[in-house]
Amino acid sequence: MMSSEKDRSEHIFVPRLTAKRWDHHIEQALFEEWRREGVFRFKSTKRGKPFVIDTPPPTTSGTWHIGAVASYSQIDMIARSERMQGNQVLFPIGFDRNGINVEIYVEKNSNVRMRDTPREQFIELCSAALDKLESQMTEIMMAVGLSGDYDQKYHTDHESYRKFTQSTFIELWKRGLVYETTRPNNYCHDCGTTIADAEVEYEDLPSSLAYVRFRVKETSDNLVIATTRPELICACRLVIVNPTDERYKDLHGLHAILPIYGREVPIKPHPSAKPEFGTGAVMICSYGDYTDVLLFRELGLTEVLAVGADGRLTNAAGIYQGETTQKGRSRILGDLSSQGLLEKTEEIKHRTPVCSRSNTPIEIIPMKEYYLKQMDFIPKLRHLAKRIAFHPDSSRQILLDWLNSVSIDWPISRRRVYSTEIPVWYCKKCGTPLVPPPGKYYRPWRDPPPWTKCSECGFNEFEGETRTFDTWIDSSVSALFISKYPSDIKFFKRAYPVSIRPQGKDIVRTWLHYSLLRCYQLTGRAPFSHVWINGLGMDEQGQAMHKSKGNVVEPEPLLEKYGADAFRFWDASEATLGSDFRCSEMRIAGAHKFVTKLWNLSRFISAFPQPRAVRLQPSDKWILSELSILVKQSLNGYYEFNFFVPATAIRDFVWETFASHYLEMVKPRAYGQGFSASQQRAAWYTLHTVLKTLLLLLAPITPFMPDYIWRQLYSKRSIHTECFPKPLWPKSYKRYTKRVVAFNREVWKVKKDRNLALRDSIEISIPKVLSPFRNDLAKMHSLQNPRPN
Ligand SMILES: [Zn+2]
Ligand SMILES: [Zn+2]
Repeated sequence: MMSSEKDRSEHIFVPRLTAKRWDHHIEQALFEEWRREGVFRFKSTKRGKPFVIDTPPPTTSGTWHIGAVASYSQIDMIARSERMQGNQVLFPIGFDRNGINVEIYVEKNSNVRMRDTPREQFIELCSAALDKLESQMTEIMMAVGLSGDYDQKYHTDHESYRKFTQSTFIELWKRGLVYETTRPNNYCHDCGTTIADAEVEYEDLPSSLAYVRFRVKETSDNLVIATTRPELICACRLVIVNPTDERYKDLHGLHAILPIYGREVPIKPHPSAKPEFGTGAVMICSYGDYTDVLLFRELGLTEVLAVGADGRLTNAAGIYQGETTQKGRSRILGDLSSQGLLEKTEEIKHRTPVCSRSNTPIEIIPMKEYYLKQMDFIPKLRHLAKRIAFHPDSSRQILLDWLNSVSIDWPISRRRVYSTEIPVWYCKKCGTPLVPPPGKYYRPWRDPPPWTKCSECGFNEFEGETRTFDTWIDSSVSALFISKYPSDIKFFKRAYPVSIRPQGKDIVRTWLHYSLLRCYQLTGRAPFSHVWINGLGMDEQGQAMHKSKGNVVEPEPLLEKYGADAFRFWDASEATLGSDFRCSEMRIAGAHKFVTKLWNLSRFISAFPQPRAVRLQPSDKWILSELSILVKQSLNGYYEFNFFVPATAIRDFVWETFASHYLEMVKPRAYGQGFSASQQRAAWYTLHTVLKTLLLLLAPITPFMPDYIWRQLYSKRSIHTECFPKPLWPKSYKRYTKRVVAFNREVWKVKKDRNLALRDSIEISIPKVLSPFRNDLAKMHSLQNPRPN
């Protein structure tokens, strides 16, 4: 064919997608369009089970981590893919606004101390900060395309939610599942409150190990004991040595005299003493670590309160009273040294429990707190965990391991202010704690109780509780709140257990565990049918991101630069479900290339008409075989909520098969260069069929560009009102794939070796097995003598 003839035939076809490049700034206009059209509004018919997503209400306390934005994008893929399977999807958008996080944020950013600020005023500051932070988060949610129900947002600090939290507490109180007791507890001085085991982390911190001389009373010999907490010598009740430790066999049953204090304590053999640590002799005091707690309990020792709730040494510490533990430690070391009682100090790394919020080392102090019973429920929770479907399945073990390690009931009271109040008043005469009836939001630190007389003694003065709940008390009943328990029992019956609980693996021991516990206690059933556990977002090298390391990747600039589709395609294709994933601009830029490629392909195809009935050619049947396989693979990934599967399968199909082979094979036919009208129409039909199918398959992952193209080419309605495609075409032509690919590569290689352009003609014969594709291949490669040999 003469080149002028070719040019003419190509010029007839003008792309209906006019823009040369996809401008991702259209995304926000599309998002507004979806909201106007109500595409994502939850339309609950009266019948059938809705698909309910227990969306994690994000903690509203600062900038949003890119890993979190990526996880919410995947939760959106769950919502969109379920809609495309014909389900009524309830995808609530909530915000967890209670708790220490926002209080710390306000203390830092408003330069105030919570304890020096009137409660009412501090609450105002928190509330204002939360509104600002929430609107920033909502902007990101919309920028990334979360198809949630923004008209019905919920907030854990709203009166309706706090009322609900308090009602659930009152119910459990009445059933005897709540009790108050004094018990050694993790205490963070920085946060000024007790914290649960689930919120304690361990760090290897540099520490001094002091070798201190105790005197053995009966022999007057020295007994050297190594400790990282010499300021707790005043709280020592016992010295232990390992029963097998030959060095100390003679000391069993004797007594040690505490240096500085002169008090005597017994020396006993106990297997908890590790011969290899320090000198092998260990002082047991209240409380240096959890071993101390266990031994005090086991041996019935009387505790000495050495550290107060203010983090300072008490009068039990004698001359060191009032010092911080740090300062007290250095003073006592100085005194021991000057009295010749300090043998040496060693610098070591010590595994130290720290507060997961403020990162400060925690103390173990006896505190009076409310507890929710959980030990009795652990076997039942283990049973439920085995019956719930986990995605990936392996993540169930994270929960089971945690359940196996839980050793005490859940301390639920906190000495903070911006949280749901514990609804209890105390009679000023007899001290009885009294709870109000459920159904109202109570603030006992501010308001009088809803009664005038003590039900026990008839007295008429009361003191309101000032403490609040651990914030997980609120968020652990989100599944019940969104299924309208107990206000709309009809809906609740259809919606509960909710369909899926999506969350990160970092909050399995908190949110997942507490949700199972609380919802089971309240309803006798598991709260969800599926649990979906995503990995965590790491930096480019696979390291956790920290401001101090300078490796934090901010999501907003990347969304602005590459658009939500590119961000989300990166997100889905970066790692398989459950694995940690790496966040970097380079990787998102890579996904952007795929989005661009898809636009270019679509634009090319948009130039051709869309015939209805055609007689397919073998090349068409071949690519439709491959397309059927792609549809099946992608749907299987969607059914497993693992978006890595469709994303990578679609990417491979587009790059490796469709664009590089089929498209090149049918270009001449689509342009009508040397083919019959019927053959030409078959190419048009197939190109559009592949494109439509790709757009539908991609819609949950990259919701924007596919919808734009869909509306330009195929429908007046949004692609997000459509259902997934089905694998309609026979897969028999799949057997040709390897041969077709190999033949094309071979021709390209020969042309390259001979310095020929791709359009230059060449003499290569087509293998017999590929004879069905002869016409397309001959045109594609300008083969001179294409007869099979
Ligand atoms: Zn703390
Ligand atoms: Zn009373």
